[in-house]
Amino acid sequence: MKKAKAFVNWGKSVVKVVVVGGGWSGCAAAWAAAKAGADVVLLERTDLLLGTGLVGGIFRNNGRYTAAEEIIALGGGAIIHGMDSVARHKNISFPGHEHASLYDVTLIESVIKSILLQQGVTIRTQTRVTDVIRYGRKIYQVMADGGEVITGEVFIDATGTAGPMGNCLTYGNGCAMCVLRCPSYGPRVSLTARAQVKERMGQKADGSFGAMSGSCKLQKDSLAPDVRAELEKSGVVLLPMPERLREKIALGKKACTQYAIPEYQATLVLLDTGHAKMMTSYFDLADLRTIPGLELARFADPYAGGRGNSVRYLGIAPCDNTLKVTGMDNLFCSGEKSGIMVGHSEAILTGLLSGHNAVRHCLDMEYLELPRTLAAGDYIAYVHEKMDQLQSLTVRYTFSGAEYFMRMKELSLYTTDREAIETRVAQAGMTGIFSKCLI
Ligand SMILES: Cc1cc2nc3c(=O)[nH]c(=O)nc-3n(C[C@H](O)[C@H](O)[C@H](O)COP(=O)(O)OP(=O)(O)OC[C@H]3O[C@@H](n4cnc5c(N)ncnc54)[C@H](O)[C@@H]3O)c2cc1C
Repeated sequence: MKKAKAFVNWGKSVVKVVVVGGGWSGCAAAWAAAKAGADVVLLERTDLLLGTGLVGGIFRNNGRYTAAEEIIALGGGAIIHGMDSVARHKNISFPGHEHASLYDVTLIESVIKSILLQQGVTIRTQTRVTDVIRYGRKIYQVMADGGEVITGEVFIDATGTAGPMGNCLTYGNGCAMCVLRCPSYGPRVSLTARAQVKERMGQKADGSFGAMSGSCKLQKDSLAPDVRAELEKSGVVLLPMPERLREKIALGKKACTQYAIPEYQATLVLLDTGHAKMMTSYFDLADLRTIPGLELARFADPYAGGRGNSVRYLGIAPCDNTLKVTGMDNLFCSGEKSGIMVGHSEAILTGLLSGHNAVRHCLDMEYLELPRTLAAGDYIAYVHEKMDQLQSLTVRYTFSGAEYFMRMKELSLYTTDREAIETRVAQAGMTGIFSKCLI
C-alpha cells in the first residue's frame, strides 16, 4: 500500500474546511466558507470545476430569477454576477419559462475558478476522495486516490448524485459518455455513504430508481446555417416535432420536472448556451436527422446522446435545514446531495449555506437556517418536509417550474422586483449574511 501523506498547505485561519466535489454547490460552499474566514480546500475528481454545470446554462428562469436576486441580497452576488458576466442571452422566453438567462458553458468554468482563487480557496482538481476516516460521529480525514490523506475540522459533501457508470447501466441506458467522464477520472464516491450514513434514492414516474438528465447538446456547426443563425440571434429555436417522433420523448424519465411538460413533446427546443442545448434527454441520431435543419446533427454532450444520458439522484444525504448531515457532527452537504433538488441556482444556494454553516460549526456558533419569508428558506424547508412525508421520491423540486414554482406564486414569494427582494431580505435581518467574515 502507498504511504499516506498530507499535502495541503493550510493558511493561518483557525478554521479548516474540506469541500469534496467541485460542482456548482461545492464551488459555492468553498467560496462562502472562505468568505466567512476559513482556510478552504476544494477537491474535485476531474480536471474541471462545475460538474454538471458544465453542460447546463439556464438560470434566472421563472422563480430562479427571484432566487438569484435573493442570493445576491444575501451576500452571494459574486457567484451570480460571474454567471451574468458570461450570459450569451438574457431575458429570453421558451415554452413554460420566462426571463431566462443562458450562460456560456464554454466560458463559465474559468470565471468561477478565478472567483474562488481570488477568495483564497485552494483548488485541487484530479483529486478523487475515495474514503473517510471517522470515529463515531466525527470525520477526521478524507483519503484521495493514491493514498493522500487530508485532515480537516469540518467537511462538506458536494459530490452530487450522478454516476458512476454502473448506475447509468442499471438505471439508464448505459454510460452515454457525459461531461463527468467516469471512465477517465473514476466513479463518484459519496462522503456521506462512506461515513456509513444511509442515503435515499430518487425515482422516475414509474417507480424505478434515478432520473435521467433532461437535456443534451448538439454541436452548433452541425446545424443548418439558418437554424444556427436564428439560435445565435435570439437564443432559442423551436422546431416542430414530427408526429411520429413525439411518443419517443420519454417525459416521465426526466430529472427536470419543469421540462417534463407536453410542449416539450410537440416541439424540439434548442437553446444557445455555446452549444445547441436540446431539451430532450436523448434522441436517436437517425430520427433526429430526419428533422429539417438537423440533417447533419452531431452530439457534443453526451457523446452517445443518441442513446442515453447521465442518471442522477442516486444518493441523497439525510440532512436538516442547516444542511448538517443527520447522524454526523462535522459533515455538511449541498446541491443534489442535500435534497431532491434540481438546478444550478438551487445548488449555489445550498452550497453557500453549507459553506457558511461549516465555519459556524468550527466557531461553536448557532447554525444558520434561512427564514421561510424568503424563497430560499422556504424552498430548502419545503423540499425536506416533502422528503420526510413521501415514501417514494418521484418528484424533484426547483424554483424554475412544476410544484415548487406554483407554491412560490401561491405564497407571493415569486417576484422579479429587485427592490422588493432586497427589502424582504433586509426585513429578515439577512442582508449580506454570506459575505460576512465570522472570525
Ligand atoms: C445535462 C444536464 C443539463 C442541466 N442543465 C441545467 C440548466 O440548464 N440549468 C440548471 O439550473 N440546472 C441544470 N442541470 C442541473 C444542475 O446542473 C444540477 O442540479 C446542479 O448543478 C448540481 O450541482 P451539484 O454541485 O450538486 O452536483 P454536480 O454538478 O454533480 O457536481 C458534483 C461534483 O463532485 C465531483 N465528485 C464526485 N465525487 C467526488 C469525489 N469522491 N471526490 C472529488 N470529487 C467528486 C464530480 O466530479 C462533480 O464535479 C443540468 C444537469 C445536467 C446533467
